[in-house]
Amino acid sequence: MHPTSSKPFSYESFPASGHVAYFSMEIAIHPAMPTYSGGLGVLAGDTLRSAADLGVPLAAFTLLHRKGYFQQHLDAAGAQTEEVQPWNPADFCTEEPARVTVQIEDRVVTLRAWRYDLEGRFGHVVPIYLLDTDLEGNSGWDRGLTDHLYGGDENYRLQQEIVLGMGGVRMANALGLKVNVYHMNEGHAALLTLALLESQLGGGPLGAATEADIEQVRRKCVFTTHTPVPAGHDRFSTEQSMRILGGDRTARLQKHGCFRDGLLNMTLLALRFSRYANGVAMQHGKVSRQMFPEFAIDTITNGVHAPTWMSEPFQQMLDEHIPAWRRDNLYLRNAIDLPEAKILAAHTRAKEELLAEVGSRTGKVLNPEVLTLGFARRVATYKRATLMFTDPKRLMEIAEAAGGLQILYAGKAHPHDQPGKDLIHRVVEEASRLYGDLLRILYLEDYAWELGARLTAGVDVWVNNPRRPHEASGTSGMKAAMNGVPSLSILDGWWIEGCIEGVTGWAIEDGANDEEEAQSLYRKLESAVVPLYRESPEKWARLMRTTLAFNGSYFNTNRMVKQYVRNAYYPEKIIDRVRVEEEAYAI
Ligand SMILES: *Cc1c(COP(=O)(O)O)cnc(C)c1O
Repeated sequence: MHPTSSKPFSYESFPASGHVAYFSMEIAIHPAMPTYSGGLGVLAGDTLRSAADLGVPLAAFTLLHRKGYFQQHLDAAGAQTEEVQPWNPADFCTEEPARVTVQIEDRVVTLRAWRYDLEGRFGHVVPIYLLDTDLEGNSGWDRGLTDHLYGGDENYRLQQEIVLGMGGVRMANALGLKVNVYHMNEGHAALLTLALLESQLGGGPLGAATEADIEQVRRKCVFTTHTPVPAGHDRFSTEQSMRILGGDRTARLQKHGCFRDGLLNMTLLALRFSRYANGVAMQHGKVSRQMFPEFAIDTITNGVHAPTWMSEPFQQMLDEHIPAWRRDNLYLRNAIDLPEAKILAAHTRAKEELLAEVGSRTGKVLNPEVLTLGFARRVATYKRATLMFTDPKRLMEIAEAAGGLQILYAGKAHPHDQPGKDLIHRVVEEASRLYGDLLRILYLEDYAWELGARLTAGVDVWVNNPRRPHEASGTSGMKAAMNGVPSLSILDGWWIEGCIEGVTGWAIEDGANDEEEAQSLYRKLESAVVPLYRESPEKWARLMRTTLAFNGSYFNTNRMVKQYVRNAYYPEKIIDRVRVEEEAYAI
């Protein structure tokens, strides 16, 4: 443990008081709380874990998701069915006495908050408020508004966004938080700007808002976009906006250019009302600026929370050799000096733990000596889960050349995503074909936090082959890098920044179509991955070492949160302004 760990650590550049209020539709808070679906929620959770470690004064708002994101079941043929995962908030959280209301359609809906205290490494607490409408006095429909993450239709979604954005702002006030920055993590939270504008007007009519009023809101708001394609942005029809938000609000949003192609666009709304906006990887920043050329959009590349995603054996090795890594992840750069034998031993333990988990889940015994690839993520069609099966004969030849090959798959398809479900079905079908003992393919059920951690730590190579430019960032490859596991990936999202060929992994080259990119994937396996794996464990260990040193030291949320603090929350002039205001108003 670090010698000063008994003393609370505080990041030096914060204003004297006040909070950042971080809003996210999903947050992966605890492995036993099913309040997230995938990468966005994991990123939000890792952000808060690092903020807690760094002592950033921050409070978070999300929905309770009482019935959870679904648990996945797969039958022998790979057909997915879904089961709700109800959980008991009182097992993890404390109910706050405060109550606030929001207007939805012609109803007044009351909400409360459950507080989860996320404690950082030096004792600093980031409170997370999970908003809940399941209260007596609300209608049956309204009581269910905070039940399902990404469940229901667009009407349900817009109503949830009112609860999150507008309810969250009011709850922050009711709790007495002094908020000087509102951070919208993705457009789902964009309606918080409307609540701020309404409070700026002191209950007066929205139509009376002046440019100066809007500027007051803008100076408090920052926004992170996560979506690189137009279809991915949250949008609602004018009719829905009129009916659910009301005529006044809709007129105001139209006036401020938050509609595009006749649809209320939550990304535009967030951009219009923010003083700072960013994409989540260098390439994603560029794509976002092309989609919204009228806005200055910066980049802060994503990361992962190192101690959450690094395996126990790796943590022990680093505690022994570079203990400062816990205090400051930049010290992971010094992993460049770790003995090869130690890395191999730590990885072997992580791999054995993974294979034991696979064994207990499936009854199948895999071989720890055999080259093992991992592919696990949300099953969206652009992620192309079946690309590796483009030419099964070629894949078999590669397995022969490698002296055996094991491929582990996992991932959930959204309940309404039939093409995604078809992809799972196809992978399971391929997995059950008789490839013999040389090529073993398994699809693991119910991909979530803990399985994700085991997979990224225990496989030998992490594979990712999305269709460009659909991957905004991707974070699972960063978790692998945190465990020294190289990636074999399409140059999209974070991998453009992370790939040093043959040093941190390999790039699958761009092709004109799926077929060409599959051929490039096979070529890299044949000409680079398999020969190195067979050549010598020492050389493989050096590859793992450079992967951890170069990518672990950068693609972490410790670095990322510091970037948010300096570039988004409190750039120097904002710090000065906050100080002046605090003196002037003695707040
Ligand atoms: C990290 C993680 C993700 C995100 O992975 P991507 O590479 O961004 O697809 C999704 N789901 C779970 C359970 C994760 O742990």
